[in-house]
Amino acid sequence: TSGSDPALAAPSANAPYLNPRLPVAARVHDLLGRMTLQEKVGQMTQAERSSMATDPTQITDLDLGSLLSGGGSTPTPNTPVAWADMVDGFQAQAMSTRLRIPILYGIDSVHGDNNLVGATIFPQNIAMGATRDPKLVEQEEHITATETRASGPQWVFAACDCVVRDDRWGRTYESYGEDPKLVEEMETGIDGFQGTSVKDLASPDHVLATSKHFAGDGDTSYGSSTNGTYTLDQGIDIVDWKHFKDIDLAPYVTAVQQHHVGSIMPSYSSVDWTEDGVGNPVKMSANKQLLTNVLKEKIGFKGFLISDWQAIEQLPGDYATQVRTAVNAGLDMFMEPNSAPKFEQTLIGEVQDGQVATSRIDDAVSRILTAKFELGLFEHPYTNRTNIGTIGSPAHRAVARQAVAESQVLLKNADHTLPLKPSQRVYVAGANADDIGNQAGGWTVSWQGSSGDTIPGTTILQGIRQDDPDVTYSADASQPTGGYDVGVVVVGETPYAEGVGDVGNGSNTLNLSAADQANIDTVCGAMKCVVLDVAGRPQIITGDLPKIDSYVMSWLPGSEGEGVADTLFGKHAYTGKLPVSWPRSEAQEPINIGDKDYDPLFPFGYGLTDRH
Ligand code: BGC
Repeated sequence: TSGSDPALAAPSANAPYLNPRLPVAARVHDLLGRMTLQEKVGQMTQAERSSMATDPTQITDLDLGSLLSGGGSTPTPNTPVAWADMVDGFQAQAMSTRLRIPILYGIDSVHGDNNLVGATIFPQNIAMGATRDPKLVEQEEHITATETRASGPQWVFAACDCVVRDDRWGRTYESYGEDPKLVEEMETGIDGFQGTSVKDLASPDHVLATSKHFAGDGDTSYGSSTNGTYTLDQGIDIVDWKHFKDIDLAPYVTAVQQHHVGSIMPSYSSVDWTEDGVGNPVKMSANKQLLTNVLKEKIGFKGFLISDWQAIEQLPGDYATQVRTAVNAGLDMFMEPNSAPKFEQTLIGEVQDGQVATSRIDDAVSRILTAKFELGLFEHPYTNRTNIGTIGSPAHRAVARQAVAESQVLLKNADHTLPLKPSQRVYVAGANADDIGNQAGGWTVSWQGSSGDTIPGTTILQGIRQDDPDVTYSADASQPTGGYDVGVVVVGETPYAEGVGDVGNGSNTLNLSAADQANIDTVCGAMKCVVLDVAGRPQIITGDLPKIDSYVMSWLPGSEGEGVADTLFGKHAYTGKLPVSWPRSEAQEPINIGDKDYDPLFPFGYGLTDRH
């Protein structure tokens, strides 16, 4: 039938939208004019790639615009070439559709291309916040962009430009810190991803970035989430406009106006304005005032809005109501991982019933197509593999190692215990000293991350051994006696992502585990001791600190444990500064700079030097 209906004819080779010399706006206009409703709605749909594994023809059947590998997408290919082949295989399907519109492939490269085993895994964002080094963050994300794009995906769901206001949040480590000014400074990461000119996007070392999660994900009230759990980013911000604007919205103004971020992901959370006293929280996916009036119109966001994973399904009403509400609120693309066919069918029905205006659909599709043209996908739909050999290269790892060293925060250093000297006899204790999975944290290979040998790299212990080959190590601090000069106890968290937090410790707590506590008692009771804290957020150490000579917050350093040793042995000075306030007790949360009666154990910005 396609031959008889001119609207369904295949485009001729000289169709304006296929002409790279024309301006992007003209190409979008030409292409949009050729598209059927189903083809338009297809562009607004994103499916999970694992739902394609058995049936990639869904891409052609649905005229699908986008795929993602979500956190829970398993099994994942295990080499860069296998990744690129997989993405290109899906792309071949898209290129066989009538209009040959390439798919956009998105992935959570939140601290390096972290779904790919062998990629350079950087410290988590909270550590990058501690470096106070925007140039380094830009370098980090340029490397991440290079590694990600060489392995297929052209789009990352990063960075989290969230402002963490309560460290009990399970995503604290995804934030650069509690101060919106600090988060804004670190948005140089967007330049690293995208480049600084729109022309950069088409190059093999750049990707489209996403600022997430708009807005206030890190600022919800603890314990007031709708489902009764403490999944804070799905909870409610109870705020007035001034607070919301100054704390939660500010990073987005910068991301849009200074860094031209290509996409933004609205948050799972809700906003409840205290001024109106209505007590009627509105989910962000339904918030037309914020998504359309504020973000697109006032702030001037020209990119597209991608929903979070099944986020629209948290809205009130039946599926048709959820879809209609979210599209009309201003969402442009829908992460509907396992229900792409249902989404398309529903949205087509809503348009046909006049519930969603064609102009809204055209606006959404234009925004998405603009990104695809700018990324150069119409000219080069398949992966440019030029940089595939740089994935996990020594040059890239050297930058990550530098980032680790710059992120270490020295919180206590009695009697100049640090830096250590290689001539000292060193005893190392604690499982986190020799567990690369734990030092990488969540969003590493899998969504939640996991303990053990998950990625190539260097553990902290291996790093220490390079400086001091004679160290003795025991995970459980057995036999620490025997004439050691100094003990290094590595404590902290085990991996988690989103949710409530430290799953390994059995509950959502900032307290040290019983095992860590015992290790501190044993080692610090027997010798001079240094504690390294490998965790995504502050832990409660008020009672332990008097027993400890030196305390270092190491955060979640990623694949390059040598960076921790570089500071420990004085090859790199301690220069990191706290990106969050460090509470005395969990009851002090939320605690943030500028609070009335601010009385943390260590204030925001604290960090000693070991140089005198
Ligand atoms: C997270 C997002 C992420 C998405 C895709 C969601 O659960 O909230 O940050 O980008 O999954 O993996």
